[in-house]
Amino acid sequence: MATSPTTLWNDVLGQIRLSHPSLVRGWFADISVGELTHGVMKIVVRNRAQARYLEQHCLSAFVEAAQAATGRLVSLTFDPLEDEDEEAGGALPFGIGAEELILNPDYTFGHFVTGPCNRLAHAAALAIAEEPGRAYNPFFVYGPVGLGKTHLLQAICHAMRPGFRCHYISCETFINHFIEAVENGALHRFRYRYRHVDGLLIDDIQFLAERERSQEEFFHTFNTLHQSHRQIILSADCSPAEIPSLEERLVSRFNSGLVALLDRPCLETRMAIVRTKAKLRCVEVPEEVVRFIASRIDTNIRELEGSLIKVDALSQSQTHPITLALAREALGAEPSRTVTIPTILEVVARRFNVKVSDIQGKKRVKTFTAPRHVCMFLARQLTSQSLEQIGGYFGGRDHTTVLHASRAVGELIRRDAELAEMVEQITEEAKHAGR
Ligand code: ADP
Ligand code: MG
Repeated sequence: MATSPTTLWNDVLGQIRLSHPSLVRGWFADISVGELTHGVMKIVVRNRAQARYLEQHCLSAFVEAAQAATGRLVSLTFDPLEDEDEEAGGALPFGIGAEELILNPDYTFGHFVTGPCNRLAHAAALAIAEEPGRAYNPFFVYGPVGLGKTHLLQAICHAMRPGFRCHYISCETFINHFIEAVENGALHRFRYRYRHVDGLLIDDIQFLAERERSQEEFFHTFNTLHQSHRQIILSADCSPAEIPSLEERLVSRFNSGLVALLDRPCLETRMAIVRTKAKLRCVEVPEEVVRFIASRIDTNIRELEGSLIKVDALSQSQTHPITLALAREALGAEPSRTVTIPTILEVVARRFNVKVSDIQGKKRVKTFTAPRHVCMFLARQLTSQSLEQIGGYFGGRDHTTVLHASRAVGELIRRDAELAEMVEQITEEAKHAGR
């Protein structure tokens, strides 16, 4: 008797669970399979975000598993149930080629944990998804890296009613599109596309800093959309007033709606996030391990998830269920201590072979500015001090200096592997130094 596609699919999923556990998501349970015809297995998923996730991250693993399960050279297609039309709308970006930002199927309201740190932002986001363009327009959400800004923006896109033309893009994409449009004499088309949407969501709007022409263009985009009650949602790593060289008129526009901070989550919220992520990834994690993971990391939720993945990977490779001992082995027994700026200063000074007072001083020679900027970058990454507070450790430098310096280091790290490794080592040392 021929095996039914569903049975085959269950075999495929079983194989994936064994060979690629980190790819598995709870929503795989909603996937259904069509007939296997002409060697092509049709996989039906709920929406385009899921189809894209599977195509991008899982295709080769699934094809391998399908071939192993069927013993035949099958291929797969992922077909969304809701067939949104890109031009007509739906929660789709309209980026060009590779720059296109794709919604992450994990970033929904259902998977967003609320706590005192994010309750306001979350409530506003929900209200907007229900009645876009009414209250909270614009909605400006800000906070340090890894605290859920992108997740929240994408959750709004996922939750918009069908047919709502919702454009979600990064600020860099906006700028690149604008530059391309200017160079190609296609401003008219650019404006049409950006101004004929129901909702515009721009992630990391701080990248408008010092981009005069892009700011000018965005100002007009903003006004056109706002006047016709279209929803505008922006995220940034700092408040509007803290974005360096942002025109005053834009600062006041951004402040005219709701500005909400995403703060660092408390232990309870972090534990709830670990539980949610574990469930999403179909990983069984005992409560004591949840607490262990959540208590080690308090600054960045992306790192929290990274720890969970590490623990799961070790459990898979040892074919041993997750226990506290295993989690300790995966993450190291030492809980990370709260890092302070004096610790960072000391570690960096040692590393660069300069005096702490030189880092904190005013001299602008490169020997001192390089470690000074690295310190500012790490202070932003590892502590919960505000830009002003950080500036206070460096002779009262103002917040824009701190922001510039830490961004410049962030950029450099992306291009310079040696520097990246050095900063990584300093981070580890600072985390373990404690004070
Ligand atoms: P940001 O854009 O602020 O740098 P992201 O939105 O990319 O941060 O979030 C980093 C990771 O943390 C993502 O995996 C995201 O799902 C997760 N995350 C952040 N906040 C929450 C939350 N409140 N509940 C669940 N997951 C969260
Ligand atoms: Mg982000």
